[in-house]
Amino acid sequence: MKYDVIIAGAGPSGCMAALAAARLGAKVLLIEKNAYPGGSNTAGMVCPLMTFHSGNKQIVRGIAQEVIDRLAEKGATLGHIPDPLGVTSTITPIEPSGLRLVYFEMLAQQPNITLLLHSFLYDAEMVSGTVTRVTVVGKDGTASYRAKTFIDATGDGDLAALCHVGFDKGRTSDGYTQPMSMIFKVGGIDFATVIAYIRQNPEQFILHKGYTQLEKYLVVSGFFDIVKLAKAHGDFNIPRDRILFFQGLHPGEAFINTSRIIKLSGISAQDQSIAEKEAAWQVEELMSFFQKYVPGFESCYLAAIADMSGVRESRRIHGICTLTVGDVYEERASDEGVAVCAFPIDIHDPAGADLQWMRRKQDFCYDIPYGVMVPRKTDNLLVTGRCISATHEALASARISATAMALGQAAGTAAYLALIQKVGFERLDVALLQQELRRQGAIPTKVDLR
Ligand SMILES: Cc1cc2nc3c(=O)[nH]c(=O)nc-3n(C[C@H](O)[C@H](O)[C@H](O)COP(=O)(O)OP(=O)(O)OC[C@H]3O[C@@H](n4cnc5c(N)ncnc54)[C@H](O)[C@@H]3O)c2cc1C
Repeated sequence: MKYDVIIAGAGPSGCMAALAAARLGAKVLLIEKNAYPGGSNTAGMVCPLMTFHSGNKQIVRGIAQEVIDRLAEKGATLGHIPDPLGVTSTITPIEPSGLRLVYFEMLAQQPNITLLLHSFLYDAEMVSGTVTRVTVVGKDGTASYRAKTFIDATGDGDLAALCHVGFDKGRTSDGYTQPMSMIFKVGGIDFATVIAYIRQNPEQFILHKGYTQLEKYLVVSGFFDIVKLAKAHGDFNIPRDRILFFQGLHPGEAFINTSRIIKLSGISAQDQSIAEKEAAWQVEELMSFFQKYVPGFESCYLAAIADMSGVRESRRIHGICTLTVGDVYEERASDEGVAVCAFPIDIHDPAGADLQWMRRKQDFCYDIPYGVMVPRKTDNLLVTGRCISATHEALASARISATAMALGQAAGTAAYLALIQKVGFERLDVALLQQELRRQGAIPTKVDLR
C-alpha cells in the first residue's frame, strides 16, 4: 500500500502534521519508536508548553489550541497563564500523562491515520532527490513503507540524514549542543514553606516583578546560595548554578528541570547510554540535595522519572532557507511565514553551568519562513519541529513545544497541498499554504495578529 504522507516521529510536531494532513483527506502513516505519541512532552515529561502568546496576542492557535482545550476537558492543564519568571508571556502547565491520552484520542478520530508504534525508522531510499520508501524495525523484524511525500518529525532529523541531507550540529565554536536533561516529578513538597522562603529571599530568585500569585502557580529558577553551599559540601556536582522547577497540577508536585548532561550527543547510542547513566546518578543526587537543603522539600519523594533524557538539540538540517539569530532578535516578519514564535533565545550552556536568555522585550515575536522546513536537494521531503534549518542560537528559541506544534501543522498542510498541486516542496505556492493555515485557524505570520 502507498501512503500519501509518511511522518517519522509522533512528537508534538509529528502529531500536528499527521492531523493536519489527514483532516484535509491525505492517507497518513505516522511512525513512532516509543509506545505512545507526544515525544518530549510525554516520554520526556517536558512541561509546561511554551509559548502560545506574545504579550496578550495568541500567536499559536489551530490544532495546538485544540490539544489544550481537550486537556482542559480532562483536567490535565491549567490553560495559558502568565509566565511567573517573565521569560516569556504565557506558559501552559500540563500533565504529560493526560497529553498522551489526548494525542491517542485525536489521532484515533482520524481513520486515515495509521499510527505505527514500537517502530524505529532506520533506513530510507532516495532516487534522484525523491524519497521512495522508509524502513522501520520492530519486534517482528523490518518493514518498508512507500509514500508520495515524507515528513521528518523525529526532532533529530533522522530521516533527512538517512536521505543524505546535510546538517549542522552544535555551536560553531566547538560543536557542542545544548545539554540533555532528565526531567523527574517530585511529590510531597510543602509549597507554603517554599513560597515563604522566596518572599524572604527574593534576591535568590529570578521572578517577574509583576508576578505576585505564587500561591496560584509556582515556577522556581534560583536558590543560588543554597546550590553554592551544597556545592561547597560536595553535595551538588551537577553543572548548574540553580534549581529550575515547575509546579505540577496536583498538590505537592513539581517537575524538576535541573539535571544537566553536557558534551554528549543526542544522536549517538553510545553517548546516550552514558547520558542515561549520568542522568540516573543526577536524579539520586538531586533528591538527596532537595531533602537535605531546600526549605519545603524535607519530606519530598520521587514520584516519576521521564522515560528518557530530553535532547534539546541535535541535527539542524540544511534547508533552502535558514533561521538566524538576526531573524529572532530583530523580530523579522517574512512573506513566507508559516508559524510565529515568541520564545526568547534560551541557551543552556553546552559545556558548563550557565543559562542565557536573550530577547529585546517580553512581547516580541517573529515569523518562521516555510523554507526552513524544506531540505536542500530533495523533492518530496519536509522536516519540521526541532530539526528545522536554523543556527544554534536561533534554534534555542524556535525549538520550543508550541512552536513545534505550529510548524507541524504547517508541514502536514504543505504535504497535502504539494500532493494536490503535484509539485515538489521547493515549488509549493506558499501564499496558498498561508491561506489554508488561516482557514484552519492557525497563525502563519505576524501580519495575522493585527
Ligand atoms: C530537557 C528539555 C526541556 C525542555 N523544556 C521545555 C519547556 O519547558 N517548554 C517547552 O515548550 N519546550 C521545552 N523543550 C523543548 C521541546 O520539548 C522540544 O523541542 C519539542 O518537543 C520538539 O518537538 P518535536 O516534535 O520536534 O520533537 P520531539 O518532541 O523530540 O518528538 C520526536 C518524536 O520522534 C520520535 N523519533 C525520533 N527518532 C525516531 C526514529 N528514528 N524512529 C521513530 N521515531 C523516532 C521520538 O520518539 C519522538 O516521539 C524542552 C526540551 C528538553 C529536551
